[in-house]
Amino acid sequence: MNPKIEKALNDQINFELYSSYIYMAMASYFRSLSLSGFAHWMEIQVQEELAHALKLYNYITERGGIAVFDAIAKPPQTWDSPTDVFKHSHEHEQIVTSRMHEIVDLSLKEKDHTTNAHIQWYLNEQVEEESKVLGIYQQLKFANNSPQALLMFDRELAQRIFVDPNAPNAQKQP
Ligand code: MG
Repeated sequence: MNPKIEKALNDQINFELYSSYIYMAMASYFRSLSLSGFAHWMEIQVQEELAHALKLYNYITERGGIAVFDAIAKPPQTWDSPTDVFKHSHEHEQIVTSRMHEIVDLSLKEKDHTTNAHIQWYLNEQVEEESKVLGIYQQLKFANNSPQALLMFDRELAQRIFVDPNAPNAQKQP
């Protein structure tokens, strides 16, 4: 495997695991507020990030590379409000998207068309990742942290179901 590509993909495994840390910390923050539906939503988000890391791990090892596990950065531990959590989530997902663009740029430069094709899945996934958190962020802003709205959101977010993207014939959740 091209060493530059292998390094970039391994860096991305680390960043996906870091993403899972952030969302786990957010879930814990929501648990501390007894917003169990919000916490559940974030716990599903953790599973998604672990699945993103696993998908890259599978790809690297299938191509004959070695997955490297570096230290994971410490995530923030608290936020100002539920709205602030989703604002941060959206900013984080925008960073992930820009990192995926950089991997595509590198794959084109290195003429690694297989990696380019593999990362297209992540580009599509990022459209959904950004859209999900932005939608909740904007609705929370409208609600302006009203207790009634937060409790309504809490019931709605409790409904989220994890769909494993690594499972055969995985269907996207609407
Ligand atoms: Mg991810």
